[in-house]
Amino acid sequence: ASLFVGCAKPATTDEPANEEGEAVTSAPEKIKVGLSLPTQREERWVRDKEKMEQVAAEMGVELLVRVADANMQEQITQVEALLTQGIDVLILAPHDASAAASLVEKAKQEGVPVISYDRLITNTDKLDIYLSFDNVKVGELQGKFISELVPEGKYIIMSGAPTDNNAKLFKEGAMKYIQPLIDQGKITVIAEQGVDNWVPENALKIVEAALAANNNEVDAILAPNDGTAGAAIQALAAQGLAGSVPITGQDAEKAAAKRIVEGTQSMTIFKDTRDLGKAAIEIAIDLASGKDINTNGAVENGKIDVPSVLLEPKVVTADNIMEVLVESGYINESDLK
Ligand code: BGC
Repeated sequence: ASLFVGCAKPATTDEPANEEGEAVTSAPEKIKVGLSLPTQREERWVRDKEKMEQVAAEMGVELLVRVADANMQEQITQVEALLTQGIDVLILAPHDASAAASLVEKAKQEGVPVISYDRLITNTDKLDIYLSFDNVKVGELQGKFISELVPEGKYIIMSGAPTDNNAKLFKEGAMKYIQPLIDQGKITVIAEQGVDNWVPENALKIVEAALAANNNEVDAILAPNDGTAGAAIQALAAQGLAGSVPITGQDAEKAAAKRIVEGTQSMTIFKDTRDLGKAAIEIAIDLASGKDINTNGAVENGKIDVPSVLLEPKVVTADNIMEVLVESGYINESDLK
Protein backbone atom coordinates (compact mmCIF):
# COMPACT_ATOMS: atom_id res chain seq x y z
CA ALA A 1 0.00 0.00 0.00
CA SER A 2 1.14 3.51 -0.38
CA LEU A 3 -0.03 6.85 0.74
CA PHE A 4 0.28 10.22 -0.82
CA VAL A 5 0.41 13.26 1.36
CA GLY A 6 0.48 16.68 -0.24
CA CYS A 7 3.67 18.72 -0.24
CA ALA A 8 4.27 20.17 3.18
CA LYS A 9 6.32 23.06 1.88
CA PRO A 10 3.88 25.27 0.03
CA ALA A 11 5.43 27.76 -2.37
CA THR A 12 6.34 30.68 -0.18
CA THR A 13 5.51 34.24 -1.03
CA ASP A 14 8.48 35.63 0.86
CA GLU A 15 11.05 34.31 -1.63
CA PRO A 16 14.08 36.64 -1.83
CA ALA A 17 13.83 39.07 -4.76
CA ASN A 18 16.42 41.04 -6.77
CA GLU A 19 16.21 44.78 -7.44
CA GLU A 20 13.77 44.24 -10.32
CA GLY A 21 11.50 42.44 -7.91
CA GLU A 22 12.04 39.04 -9.57
CA ALA A 23 12.39 36.01 -7.36
CA VAL A 24 15.95 34.69 -7.17
CA THR A 25 16.80 31.08 -6.59
CA SER A 26 18.17 30.52 -3.12
CA ALA A 27 19.88 27.47 -1.68
CA PRO A 28 17.29 24.78 -0.87
CA GLU A 29 15.91 25.31 2.59
CA LYS A 30 16.71 22.72 5.23
CA ILE A 31 13.75 20.56 6.16
CA LYS A 32 12.68 21.38 9.70
CA VAL A 33 11.20 18.54 11.73
CA GLY A 34 9.62 18.81 15.18
CA LEU A 35 9.99 15.83 17.49
CA SER A 36 7.90 15.51 20.62
CA LEU A 37 8.70 12.61 22.95
CA PRO A 38 6.63 11.67 26.00
CA THR A 39 9.49 10.89 28.35
CA GLN A 40 13.10 9.87 28.76
CA ARG A 41 12.34 7.68 31.74
CA GLU A 42 12.73 4.36 29.98
CA GLU A 43 16.11 3.81 28.37
CA ARG A 44 14.49 3.11 25.01
CA TRP A 45 13.23 6.69 24.64
CA VAL A 46 16.75 7.96 25.18
CA ARG A 47 17.88 5.72 22.36
CA ASP A 48 15.03 6.79 20.05
CA LYS A 49 16.01 10.40 20.60
CA GLU A 50 19.71 9.80 20.03
CA LYS A 51 19.09 7.84 16.85
CA MET A 52 16.78 10.47 15.38
CA GLU A 53 19.27 13.22 16.24
CA GLN A 54 22.07 11.26 14.58
CA VAL A 55 20.14 10.44 11.40
CA ALA A 56 18.76 13.97 11.13
CA ALA A 57 22.29 15.38 11.35
CA GLU A 58 23.54 12.92 8.71
CA MET A 59 20.70 13.79 6.35
CA GLY A 60 20.91 17.53 6.82
CA VAL A 61 17.55 17.83 8.57
CA GLU A 62 17.03 20.40 11.30
CA LEU A 63 15.44 18.54 14.22
CA LEU A 64 13.77 20.44 17.04
CA VAL A 65 13.40 18.07 20.00
CA ARG A 66 11.07 18.49 22.96
CA VAL A 67 10.55 16.01 25.79
CA ALA A 68 7.48 16.08 28.03
CA ASP A 69 7.89 14.54 31.45
CA ALA A 70 5.02 12.04 31.10
CA ASN A 71 2.73 15.05 31.39
CA MET A 72 0.16 15.76 28.69
CA GLN A 73 -0.22 19.44 29.48
CA GLU A 74 3.51 19.87 29.08
CA GLN A 75 3.45 17.99 25.79
CA ILE A 76 0.61 20.16 24.49
CA THR A 77 2.50 23.35 25.37
CA GLN A 78 5.67 22.04 23.76
CA VAL A 79 4.00 20.94 20.53
CA GLU A 80 2.05 24.18 20.21
CA ALA A 81 5.34 26.04 20.52
CA LEU A 82 6.95 23.80 17.88
CA LEU A 83 4.08 24.61 15.51
CA THR A 84 4.91 28.31 15.73
CA GLN A 85 8.49 27.62 14.68
CA GLY A 86 7.82 26.75 11.07
CA ILE A 87 8.29 22.98 11.21
CA ASP A 88 7.55 21.04 8.03
CA VAL A 89 6.66 17.75 9.73
CA LEU A 90 5.80 16.73 13.29
CA ILE A 91 6.93 13.42 14.79
CA LEU A 92 4.74 12.90 17.84
CA ALA A 93 4.93 10.08 20.38
CA PRO A 94 1.97 10.91 22.59
CA HIS A 95 1.88 10.64 26.36
CA ASP A 96 -1.91 10.38 26.16
CA ALA A 97 -3.27 8.76 23.00
CA SER A 98 -6.59 10.57 22.73
CA ALA A 99 -5.59 13.91 24.26
CA ALA A 100 -2.96 14.18 21.50
CA ALA A 101 -5.72 14.24 18.85
CA SER A 102 -6.15 18.00 19.26
CA LEU A 103 -2.45 18.46 18.50
CA VAL A 104 -2.87 16.60 15.21
CA GLU A 105 -5.80 18.85 14.31
CA LYS A 106 -3.71 21.95 15.08
CA ALA A 107 -0.76 20.68 13.06
CA LYS A 108 -2.99 19.95 10.09
CA GLN A 109 -4.50 23.43 10.26
CA GLU A 110 -0.95 24.69 9.76
CA GLY A 111 -0.40 22.25 6.89
CA VAL A 112 2.04 20.18 8.95
CA PRO A 113 1.82 16.38 8.43
CA VAL A 114 2.04 14.24 11.55
CA ILE A 115 3.80 10.94 12.14
CA SER A 116 2.44 9.09 15.18
CA TYR A 117 5.65 7.63 16.56
CA ASP A 118 5.66 4.29 18.43
CA ARG A 119 2.37 5.10 20.17
CA LEU A 120 -0.82 5.59 18.19
CA ILE A 121 -2.74 8.86 18.46
CA THR A 122 -6.42 7.95 18.67
CA ASN A 123 -9.70 9.69 17.88
CA THR A 124 -8.58 11.78 14.96
CA ASP A 125 -9.12 11.30 11.24
CA LYS A 126 -6.30 13.71 10.40
CA LEU A 127 -3.32 11.51 11.19
CA ASP A 128 -1.02 10.87 8.22
CA ILE A 129 0.94 7.88 9.34
CA TYR A 130 1.65 5.54 12.24
CA LEU A 131 5.21 4.29 12.58
CA SER A 132 5.73 1.62 15.21
CA PHE A 133 6.30 -2.04 15.82
CA ASP A 134 3.57 -4.61 15.46
CA ASN A 135 2.34 -4.10 19.00
CA VAL A 136 -0.32 -6.81 19.04
CA LYS A 137 2.51 -9.13 18.03
CA VAL A 138 4.58 -7.85 20.99
CA GLY A 139 1.77 -8.96 23.30
CA GLU A 140 1.36 -12.26 21.48
CA LEU A 141 5.04 -13.02 21.93
CA GLN A 142 4.81 -12.25 25.65
CA GLY A 143 1.57 -14.22 26.13
CA LYS A 144 2.75 -17.23 24.13
CA PHE A 145 6.07 -17.33 25.98
CA ILE A 146 4.67 -17.17 29.51
CA SER A 147 1.67 -19.46 28.90
CA GLU A 148 3.84 -22.14 27.34
CA LEU A 149 6.28 -21.93 30.23
CA VAL A 150 3.54 -21.81 32.87
CA PRO A 151 0.36 -23.35 31.39
CA GLU A 152 -1.38 -23.47 34.74
CA GLY A 153 -1.25 -21.71 38.08
CA LYS A 154 -1.64 -18.29 39.61
CA TYR A 155 -0.92 -15.30 37.42
CA ILE A 156 -0.36 -11.63 38.09
CA ILE A 157 -1.36 -9.79 34.93
CA MET A 158 -0.15 -6.24 34.57
CA SER A 159 -0.69 -3.97 31.59
CA GLY A 160 0.84 -0.63 30.70
CA ALA A 161 -0.49 2.88 31.19
CA PRO A 162 -4.21 3.08 30.43
CA THR A 163 -3.56 6.34 28.54
CA ASP A 164 -1.16 4.59 26.14
CA ASN A 165 -2.86 2.80 23.24
CA ASN A 166 0.12 0.43 23.01
CA ALA A 167 -0.78 -0.94 26.44
CA LYS A 168 -4.15 -2.00 25.05
CA LEU A 169 -2.55 -3.68 22.04
CA PHE A 170 0.08 -5.50 24.14
CA LYS A 171 -2.59 -6.87 26.43
CA GLU A 172 -4.88 -7.84 23.58
CA GLY A 173 -2.04 -9.86 22.05
CA ALA A 174 -1.04 -11.52 25.32
CA MET A 175 -4.58 -12.51 26.25
CA LYS A 176 -5.01 -14.40 22.99
CA TYR A 177 -2.81 -17.02 24.64
CA ILE A 178 -3.67 -16.58 28.31
CA GLN A 179 -7.46 -16.17 28.17
CA PRO A 180 -8.19 -19.69 26.80
CA LEU A 181 -6.25 -21.18 29.74
CA ILE A 182 -8.23 -19.00 32.16
CA ASP A 183 -11.45 -20.20 30.52
CA GLN A 184 -10.31 -23.82 30.92
CA GLY A 185 -9.72 -23.18 34.61
CA LYS A 186 -5.98 -23.82 34.33
CA ILE A 187 -4.84 -20.30 35.03
CA THR A 188 -6.19 -18.26 37.94
CA VAL A 189 -5.64 -14.52 37.85
CA ILE A 190 -4.79 -13.22 41.32
CA ALA A 191 -4.25 -9.62 40.24
CA GLU A 192 -5.01 -7.78 37.02
CA GLN A 193 -4.15 -4.12 36.77
CA GLY A 194 -2.84 -1.37 34.53
CA VAL A 195 0.32 0.43 35.65
CA ASP A 196 -0.49 4.14 35.71
CA ASN A 197 1.98 6.16 33.65
CA TRP A 198 4.15 3.03 33.30
CA VAL A 199 5.74 3.99 36.65
CA PRO A 200 7.75 1.07 38.10
CA GLU A 201 6.81 2.10 41.65
CA ASN A 202 3.16 1.44 40.75
CA ALA A 203 4.06 -2.04 39.46
CA LEU A 204 5.98 -2.70 42.66
CA LYS A 205 2.87 -1.95 44.71
CA ILE A 206 0.67 -4.19 42.57
CA VAL A 207 3.02 -7.15 42.95
CA GLU A 208 3.67 -6.56 46.66
CA ALA A 209 -0.06 -6.48 47.33
CA ALA A 210 -0.72 -9.62 45.28
CA LEU A 211 2.07 -11.51 47.04
CA ALA A 212 0.81 -10.45 50.46
CA ALA A 213 -2.79 -11.39 49.65
CA ASN A 214 -1.79 -14.83 48.33
CA ASN A 215 0.79 -16.06 50.82
CA ASN A 216 3.49 -15.51 48.20
CA GLU A 217 1.87 -18.14 46.01
CA VAL A 218 2.31 -16.85 42.50
CA ASP A 219 3.42 -18.87 39.48
CA ALA A 220 3.88 -16.32 36.71
CA ILE A 221 3.84 -12.60 36.07
CA LEU A 222 2.93 -10.85 32.84
CA ALA A 223 4.86 -7.59 32.99
CA PRO A 224 4.34 -5.33 29.97
CA ASN A 225 7.85 -3.84 29.84
CA ASP A 226 11.27 -4.04 31.44
CA GLY A 227 10.67 -1.15 33.81
CA THR A 228 7.64 -2.82 35.36
CA ALA A 229 9.38 -6.22 35.26
CA GLY A 230 12.30 -4.79 37.24
CA ALA A 231 9.93 -3.52 39.90
CA ALA A 232 8.08 -6.84 40.05
CA ILE A 233 11.39 -8.67 40.46
CA GLN A 234 12.28 -6.30 43.29
CA ALA A 235 9.03 -7.29 45.04
CA LEU A 236 9.82 -10.98 44.45
CA ALA A 237 13.37 -10.56 45.72
CA ALA A 238 12.09 -9.07 48.97
CA GLN A 239 10.31 -12.40 49.53
CA GLY A 240 13.25 -14.51 48.40
CA LEU A 241 11.43 -15.42 45.19
CA ALA A 242 13.47 -13.70 42.48
CA GLY A 243 14.32 -16.26 39.81
CA SER A 244 11.61 -18.71 40.79
CA VAL A 245 8.67 -16.91 39.20
CA PRO A 246 8.74 -16.58 35.37
CA ILE A 247 8.18 -13.02 34.22
CA THR A 248 8.03 -11.24 30.87
CA GLY A 249 9.38 -7.87 29.79
CA GLN A 250 9.87 -5.60 26.80
CA ASP A 251 12.43 -3.07 25.48
CA ALA A 252 15.73 -4.92 25.83
CA GLU A 253 16.96 -2.45 28.44
CA LYS A 254 20.48 -3.08 29.70
CA ALA A 255 19.28 -3.83 33.23
CA ALA A 256 16.78 -6.36 31.85
CA ALA A 257 19.41 -8.03 29.68
CA LYS A 258 21.48 -8.43 32.83
CA ARG A 259 18.55 -9.93 34.73
CA ILE A 260 17.93 -12.38 31.88
CA VAL A 261 21.52 -13.58 32.10
CA GLU A 262 21.25 -13.79 35.90
CA GLY A 263 17.97 -15.72 35.57
CA THR A 264 15.61 -13.38 37.41
CA GLN A 265 13.76 -12.21 34.26
CA SER A 266 12.63 -14.82 31.72
CA MET A 267 12.53 -12.77 28.53
CA THR A 268 12.28 -9.38 26.95
CA ILE A 269 11.01 -8.14 23.61
CA PHE A 270 13.58 -6.45 21.40
CA LYS A 271 12.24 -3.58 19.35
CA ASP A 272 15.19 -2.10 17.52
CA THR A 273 14.83 1.61 18.18
CA ARG A 274 17.70 2.23 15.73
CA ASP A 275 15.46 1.08 12.87
CA LEU A 276 12.45 2.97 14.20
CA GLY A 277 14.34 6.23 14.67
CA LYS A 278 15.93 6.03 11.23
CA ALA A 279 12.60 5.27 9.56
CA ALA A 280 11.01 8.27 11.30
CA ILE A 281 13.48 10.74 9.84
CA GLU A 282 13.29 9.15 6.39
CA ILE A 283 9.50 9.28 6.40
CA ALA A 284 9.57 12.87 7.65
CA ILE A 285 11.79 13.83 4.70
CA ASP A 286 9.46 12.08 2.27
CA LEU A 287 6.40 13.75 3.77
CA ALA A 288 8.09 17.15 3.59
CA SER A 289 8.89 16.57 -0.07
CA GLY A 290 5.40 15.28 -0.88
CA LYS A 291 6.61 11.78 -1.73
CA ASP A 292 4.67 8.54 -1.42
CA ILE A 293 5.22 6.55 1.76
CA ASN A 294 5.34 2.78 1.55
CA THR A 295 3.19 1.33 4.30
CA ASN A 296 2.73 -2.29 5.33
CA GLY A 297 -0.41 -2.13 7.43
CA ALA A 298 -3.26 -0.09 8.83
CA VAL A 299 -4.19 0.34 12.47
CA GLU A 300 -7.63 1.43 13.60
CA ASN A 301 -7.57 4.51 15.87
CA GLY A 302 -11.26 4.91 16.68
CA LYS A 303 -11.84 7.16 13.66
CA ILE A 304 -9.89 5.75 10.70
CA ASP A 305 -7.55 2.95 9.70
CA VAL A 306 -4.27 4.81 9.95
CA PRO A 307 -1.78 3.89 7.21
CA SER A 308 1.03 2.24 9.13
CA VAL A 309 4.64 1.19 8.92
CA LEU A 310 5.09 -1.61 11.46
CA LEU A 311 8.45 -3.18 12.29
CA GLU A 312 8.95 -6.68 13.70
CA PRO A 313 9.50 -7.31 17.42
CA LYS A 314 11.70 -10.21 18.56
CA VAL A 315 11.76 -12.42 21.64
CA VAL A 316 15.01 -12.39 23.61
CA THR A 317 15.86 -15.10 26.14
CA ALA A 318 19.08 -16.31 27.72
CA ASP A 319 19.48 -18.58 24.67
CA ASN A 320 19.67 -15.90 21.99
CA ILE A 321 20.68 -12.80 23.92
CA MET A 322 24.27 -12.85 22.64
CA GLU A 323 23.20 -13.12 19.04
CA VAL A 324 20.24 -10.73 19.09
CA LEU A 325 21.46 -7.99 21.42
CA VAL A 326 25.23 -8.21 21.64
CA GLU A 327 26.20 -9.27 18.12
CA SER A 328 23.82 -6.70 16.63
CA GLY A 329 25.64 -4.05 18.66
CA TYR A 330 22.53 -3.01 20.59
CA ILE A 331 24.24 -3.61 23.90
CA ASN A 332 27.79 -4.45 24.89
CA GLU A 333 28.80 -7.73 26.41
CA SER A 334 30.05 -5.76 29.42
CA ASP A 335 26.47 -4.55 30.02
CA LEU A 336 25.56 -8.11 30.90
CA LYS A 337 27.98 -8.35 33.81
C1 BGC B 1 6.43 1.65 24.44
C2 BGC B 1 7.29 0.75 25.28
C3 BGC B 1 7.66 1.46 26.58
C4 BGC B 1 6.43 2.06 27.25
C5 BGC B 1 6.81 2.93 28.43
C6 BGC B 1 5.24 2.09 25.23
O1 BGC B 1 4.40 2.88 24.47
O2 BGC B 1 6.06 1.00 23.25
O3 BGC B 1 8.46 0.41 24.57
O4 BGC B 1 8.27 0.58 27.48
O5 BGC B 1 5.70 2.82 26.34
O6 BGC B 1 7.52 4.04 28.02
